[in-house]
Amino acid sequence: MDFAIPEPMQAVLASIRELLEREVYPLESALGSRPFAEQVPALEAVRQEVKSRGWWAPQLPRSCGGMGLSLLEFGLVGEELGRSPLGHYVFNCQAPDAGNMELLREFGTEAQRQRWLMPLARGEIRSCFAMTEPDFPGSNPVWMGTRAVRDGEDHVLDGRKWFASAADGAAFAIVMAVTDPEAEPHRRASLLIVPADSPGFHRVRNISCMGHAGDGWASHAELAFEGCRVPRENLLGAEGAGFAMAQARLGPGRIHHAMRWIGVCRRAFELLCQRAATRELGPGDPFGSRQTVQEWIAESQAAIEAARLLVLHAAWTIDTHGAAAAREAISLVKFHVAGVMQQVIDRAIQAHGALGISDDTVLSWFYRQERAARIYDGPDEVHKAVVAKRILKQYGASSRGAGVGAAPGPHTRN
Ligand SMILES: Cc1cc2nc3c(=O)[nH]c(=O)nc-3n(C[C@H](O)[C@H](O)[C@H](O)COP(=O)(O)OP(=O)(O)OC[C@H]3O[C@@H](n4cnc5c(N)ncnc54)[C@H](O)[C@@H]3O)c2cc1C
Repeated sequence: MDFAIPEPMQAVLASIRELLEREVYPLESALGSRPFAEQVPALEAVRQEVKSRGWWAPQLPRSCGGMGLSLLEFGLVGEELGRSPLGHYVFNCQAPDAGNMELLREFGTEAQRQRWLMPLARGEIRSCFAMTEPDFPGSNPVWMGTRAVRDGEDHVLDGRKWFASAADGAAFAIVMAVTDPEAEPHRRASLLIVPADSPGFHRVRNISCMGHAGDGWASHAELAFEGCRVPRENLLGAEGAGFAMAQARLGPGRIHHAMRWIGVCRRAFELLCQRAATRELGPGDPFGSRQTVQEWIAESQAAIEAARLLVLHAAWTIDTHGAAAAREAISLVKFHVAGVMQQVIDRAIQAHGALGISDDTVLSWFYRQERAARIYDGPDEVHKAVVAKRILKQYGASSRGAGVGAAPGPHTRN
C-alpha cells in the first residue's frame, strides 16, 4: 500500500494553496455582505490565472479542456480548494456544474455536448440541477410530482422544484420529471435539459437560508414549470433513465463534496490552532495551555486524518472498481465526513469566542453554509440505513426485516 503523493502532484497542490492564499482568501470577506454578482469580475480575474497555469476544470478530461485527473487525484485538489468557499468556483469544478458536466459527458448526445457541455467546461455559462420538490420528500427521489408529457415533437413540463442551487443566472436546468407514471418506480422519471429562457420556466425566488437569500451562483432557488415546452432532443439519455443517471452522478459527486469538506476542516483546524497558540487568557498564558483545547486539537486532527483516508479510499475504489463497488464506502463517507466537518467548525468557533460568531473570519460562513452537508446528497439517516442494511444482510437479516434494498437512492446536489 503506497500512501505517497507523487512529486509533481505535491508541487501542484502547494502552488494551488499559494494561489488561494494570495488571490482567493482576500475575496472571502465580501461573501454574504455584498452581492455575489459584484464579486464575479474579481473571481473572473483569478479564473484567468487558473487557466493560464493549466489547472482549469481539474475534474474534466483533457478533451474537454480539463486537467484529466483521476478521481483520487481530483480529491487531493478538491481538498486544497475546499479551504476556501470560493476555491471550487475559481477552478470551474463547483457544484452543481461539475455534476451536470459529468452527466452531459456521459449521457449527452454530440449535439447536447456541443451546445451545453462545452460552454460549461469553458466557464462561459452556469447551470443548475432541479430534482427536489417542496411537496415531496427529496430523500425518496422516485416519488415526485413534476410531469413532462410528450406533445408531438416536444415535452411539456409542469411542476415545482426547489433548492435548485445556482439557478439564479443559470443558462439551463437539468430537470428530473415523471415521463411515465405507470412504469415501475425507478423507470418513471427522465432528465430534460431546460433552457432558462424557455417560456413557462419561472424562477420564483431565491430561498432565504440561514438569514441570506444570496444571489447568482451563491443561492438556491424555487422554480416553477408551467406548460414549459422543450424539444424532444433536450431529453438527456434514455426516457425513464432519470433515476439511474442521477444515481450515476452521485458516486463521484459525493467524493467531490467530501474532499471539499476535508479542505473546510483543514482551514477551520488551522484557525483553531492559531487561536489556541496566540490568544492569551492572561499575560503569558495562552489558551492552548488548557487541556480542553488540547483535546479539541488532538480529537480534530485524528478525526480529519481518518475521514480523509476514508474518502481517498472510496475515490480509489471508484477509480479502480467502479461506483457500484463503492456504494457502501460512499455512504460511510457522506455521513461521517459531514459530521466531522460540523464538529471541527464548531470547535474552531468556540475557540474564537465572539470573534467566531462574527463575520470577520470565514468560520461563520462555514458554520451557516456547511450545516446543509448533512442533508443534501442524502440525509445522514438515509446513508446510515444503506450501510446498516448491507451489514445486517451479511448477518442473515431478511430483506423485509431489515428493509434491505428498500432505501431509495439518496439525493443529489453536486
Ligand atoms: C444547501 C442545499 C442545496 C441543495 N441543492 C439542491 C440542488 O441543487 N438540486 C436539488 O434537486 N436539490 C437540492 N437540494 C435538496 C436536497 O437534495 C434535499 O434537501 C434532500 O434530498 C432531502 O430532501 P428533503 O429536503 O425533501 O427532506 P425529506 O426527504 O423530507 O427528509 C427530511 C428528514 O427526514 C429524515 N429522513 C428522510 N428519509 C429518511 C429515511 N429513509 N430514514 C430515516 N430518516 C429519514 C431525515 O432526517 C431528513 O433530513 C439542496 C438542499 C440543500 C439544503
